[in-house]
Amino acid sequence: MAVLTLVTLRWHGHQKADQLDEAEARDDFDRLTATFQLSTLGLKETLKSWANWTELYDYVVDRSTSRFLEEELGAVELAEAGVDFLTLLDLSGHVIGMTEVPGVGGDLPATEEMIRQSVYFSAYVKSSQGASGCGAIKARTQVAMVCFGPIFNSQGQGHARGYIALGQWVNEDTIRRVSQVTGLMFDIVDVPTQARKEPPPATAAAMTSNMFRKDAVQVIEHDSQRELELRSPLTGLLGQDIAEIHMRWPRRLRQMVDTSSDITEMVVLTLIVLSGALLMLLLDRVVVRRLNLLRVELASIVDSRRWAGEVSIRGGDELAALARYTHELVLIVRQQVQELEDLSQTDALTGLPNRRAFDERLEHILAQYARQKLSAALILMDVDHFKKYNDTYGHPAGDEALKVIARCLRSALRRELDLPARLGGEEFGVLLQGVSAEQACAAAQHIRLAMQELALTHVANPPLMVMTMSLGVAVVTPQDTATTLYQRADDALYQAKTQGRNRVHLA
Ligand code: GH3
Ligand code: MG
Ligand code: MG
Repeated sequence: MAVLTLVTLRWHGHQKADQLDEAEARDDFDRLTATFQLSTLGLKETLKSWANWTELYDYVVDRSTSRFLEEELGAVELAEAGVDFLTLLDLSGHVIGMTEVPGVGGDLPATEEMIRQSVYFSAYVKSSQGASGCGAIKARTQVAMVCFGPIFNSQGQGHARGYIALGQWVNEDTIRRVSQVTGLMFDIVDVPTQARKEPPPATAAAMTSNMFRKDAVQVIEHDSQRELELRSPLTGLLGQDIAEIHMRWPRRLRQMVDTSSDITEMVVLTLIVLSGALLMLLLDRVVVRRLNLLRVELASIVDSRRWAGEVSIRGGDELAALARYTHELVLIVRQQVQELEDLSQTDALTGLPNRRAFDERLEHILAQYARQKLSAALILMDVDHFKKYNDTYGHPAGDEALKVIARCLRSALRRELDLPARLGGEEFGVLLQGVSAEQACAAAQHIRLAMQELALTHVANPPLMVMTMSLGVAVVTPQDTATTLYQRADDALYQAKTQGRNRVHLA
């Protein structure tokens, strides 16, 4: 959007600047051509004084004093007066005398041209009732300004006795002078000479001293776009285009528009880049980095496989809210996983650890035994004649009895390290660490007695008629695996049963 706006602004600026530049350039061009025309003023002045010079008058009347021209109006005198060539004509337009300051090659191009055009000057002066005139002519490829008029005696009275024409080359000097006065750069450029269609002498009165036509001004845009070139034909005395004036004109407004557009564009683009960078930085700080942190923290929580870890992003924005919810989600899942884990390790009826938890603990104890030689023992126990209890008192009463047995078991174990569990049905187990065989047996006896002393009536369990248990004890040996240990404890339990129940047997 910004770029489009800038391009449009520049384009619009160019349109306006071009209009104004062209109008100003045309004004300057008018000023230039006017000044250029005025450059004949000096020539006009000289003409005025020489045309009323009695000696010249006399010379034109009587050319026997033929040394006059060489002595008074020779090349030196002409050069002093700033005149490049002079032509004297008689009343019928015949050339009667000429002087020309020789050119670089010593040639006299003006002389030839003046002889060719002489008849028009006299015709012009006659038809304009003796008025003098100025205009441009072209000799070979060089343009000259020419002023001409009738020759009178010093009082300027009586009849004209001939005509005088003074010429001045339009050369680098002339151009430099006009350039200095106007402050404008220009050139006079020769145009390819067309076959000259000179008007017949009868139309000589139409000779023009107006060298430039406003309507013929051409404005040319150069590729560089920094300059305009204005061209206009330079019309000669006989109405032909003899050369062109080319003015180079710097497009100031366009350059100003370009400069200010450049600066504006630079400032705007810099601002865009800066704010873009700032935005990126902000985005990085506020979003990308924190998202990354969240990703890393979540990855670490996932990697832990246990929902362990924290989401640490803080703040009041949406990302922080997202992080907060994620954190809460992690906590909820962690808690539920914990609950599930606990459930999976707990016996639903008695609340004691179940077979799974018991097996895990046994593996752990066996590993510790292998590593640290920390002694351990396994007690397996089974309620005596429980089937009969169910049969006598009903299954729900059996369930209640199992809960009572669990509580009894828990309270019979005093050490923190001892782990009681319900292994299934009416079978229970205890894992003991750091105990000898005697201590394990003592613990088993203690449990058995506690059970007996509960005095839970069980009429189908003679001879005591209370709930009792049989227990098998196995102490861990270096060869034991979980299976062999269970096996030995189970064998011991079987022995206790076969020997009469309500007793402890050591494997
Ligand atoms: P023994 O002295 O030889 O161990 O005799 P027993 O009757 O206890 O042995 P048996 O293994 O034949 O019977 C176990 C009974 O335990 C069978 C079953 O009905 C009962 N039982 C197992 N689990 C539960 C339970 O969760 N609740 C109730 N109420 N009874 C259970
Ligand atoms: Mg049983
Ligand atoms: Mg039993």
